[in-house]
Amino acid sequence: MNIDRRLTELIKPHRAPFFQSLLAGTLSSFMLVGQAALLSRIIDGAFVKKSAPGALSAPLLFFALFSLLRMLFSWLAQNRAKEGTVRIKQELFTRLCAGTGSLGPQFAGSVRSGSLSTTLTKGVEALDQYFSQYMPQLYFALATPLLILAAVMTADPVSALTLLLSAPLIPLFMVLIGKSAGAMTDRQWNTMSRMSGYFLDMLQGLTTLKLFARSREQRRAIEEAGESFRHATMQVLKIAFLSSLALELTGTIGMAVIAVGIGMRLLEGQLAFQAALFVLLLTPDFYLPLRQLGLKFHAGKEGVSASKEIFALLDRVSGLPPSGSNELPEQLLRNHDIVFDKVSYTYPGAAAPALKQLTCTFPAGRTTAITGPSGAGKSTMASLLLRFMEPSEGSVKIAGNPIDTLSGNSWLQHLSWVPQQPFLFNGSIRENLRLAKPGAGEDELNEAISMAGLGDLVQGMPEGLDTKIGEQGTRLSGGEAQRIALARAFLKNAPVLVLDEPTSNTDPLLERSLRAAMKTLMRGRTVIIIAHRQETVRDADSIIVLQNGSIAQSGSHVELAGAKGYYAALHRQLPEDAA
Ligand code: ADP
Repeated sequence: MNIDRRLTELIKPHRAPFFQSLLAGTLSSFMLVGQAALLSRIIDGAFVKKSAPGALSAPLLFFALFSLLRMLFSWLAQNRAKEGTVRIKQELFTRLCAGTGSLGPQFAGSVRSGSLSTTLTKGVEALDQYFSQYMPQLYFALATPLLILAAVMTADPVSALTLLLSAPLIPLFMVLIGKSAGAMTDRQWNTMSRMSGYFLDMLQGLTTLKLFARSREQRRAIEEAGESFRHATMQVLKIAFLSSLALELTGTIGMAVIAVGIGMRLLEGQLAFQAALFVLLLTPDFYLPLRQLGLKFHAGKEGVSASKEIFALLDRVSGLPPSGSNELPEQLLRNHDIVFDKVSYTYPGAAAPALKQLTCTFPAGRTTAITGPSGAGKSTMASLLLRFMEPSEGSVKIAGNPIDTLSGNSWLQHLSWVPQQPFLFNGSIRENLRLAKPGAGEDELNEAISMAGLGDLVQGMPEGLDTKIGEQGTRLSGGEAQRIALARAFLKNAPVLVLDEPTSNTDPLLERSLRAAMKTLMRGRTVIIIAHRQETVRDADSIIVLQNGSIAQSGSHVELAGAKGYYAALHRQLPEDAA
């Protein structure tokens, strides 16, 4: 479907305010014609016909009334169009945010966050001008001149003919100029989006860039992006000035021709003064909506350019398989094994699958450790469990149900995920914890905090649970951030727990207490842990050894340590195993 059609589709559910706006605008144009008729009559009466003042009081009163009504209708037209636009923007923004959420981390990782946020914010804003100004103006640029033309026809057909002949020149110019303007605005929009992407990348990687002394190169890249943005903007402005010039010129010449024609016919007595004045008063307003359309044309083009990215994002969302609706009781999740049934997964664009026909079982209420060399597919398994993506083949099942047939409430609501580097939002500790359980009371929060071993830290903070922890938890150490993630999991108290064991902590004391907190959390749940430490692997009820996306070995520690293979080789390197 082409972009204009899709943009019109967006209006459909919010038609009412736009219709009201167009109606108010049309009435305002009628008032304009009425004002011109009354004004020409008043001036003609007062100065040419020298009527008695009493005879002009009624037209004067009506003139005042029409002026008031015109103001009211113009205000209504703008107000209603704004109202409709706000509704569209609200709907679009909600759809885009929800869409980005359902596309998940895989999608967010595959696009530049700067570009994405430009689409979500500036893109939606650019559509504001399209809907609130450009679209209504398209209508007024046709309706108002037609109305004025009809009015002028009744007073002076010769002038009407001149208007009729000059008017098509304006849309003609606009089509000619608009053709190149569209491509230019597209380019300007893409460069801006790329520049935002660069900028955010640089901000996020500032430490790395500084450490490698690469900030200068990055600055140059930004400068280049800025320069190309400047160039694209100047091109757009050039076209914008050119189009305004062409429109102004056509309007001015049209008005001049009409004024001269009227003047001559007035002198020769072929035209009455009142009719001449009426036509002269209306002529500028004939060209005005067309000239305004020229001005709003670029705002409209920008909206169209921005909408391309917005629609691309919405298309990706509608291409997602529908979410399941099966509801499983929590008890069932607690008591049933989770099964990978011939699961394969290939990353988009990757040559080889990351997981190949994987079949394994994670027993209910027990801990299963996944281990293996880096790149073996451990995180891919976790992502499939968390439904960040869907298997290319096979399925992940619980109690015989593929998890993609379960509703989000049934599956993700009963699953906790503790990543290595949890994401902390720029808010208080309380807000960060409540993500796991929005209605959690004070006692629950405190209990989760102390179970995660954060009790002392929080008590020592100036505002306790209400202490702000900075963007991405910059005020917390890595270990503390992990504890917040553990506290979230304690709070959520879900029967299934997926853990990516932290590898980053080197402080042995801290690590021991973190492990103790993890152990408490794991008790009585179905746990799938991506294990990086031998102790964790050894303590697990069963172990899956992954290599190149396939299961190389599986079994308990005792079984695997005794058998030949990757696991035994790994264990021989450990001093405590050697002992
Ligand atoms: P592990 O967690 O065991 O280190 P992963 O599950 O992260 O391994 O990766 C498995 C394989 O998939 C690796 O070969 C890796 O290069 C590839 N891979 C991981 N993430 C992506 C991605 N987003 N796009 C393409 N390939 C990926």
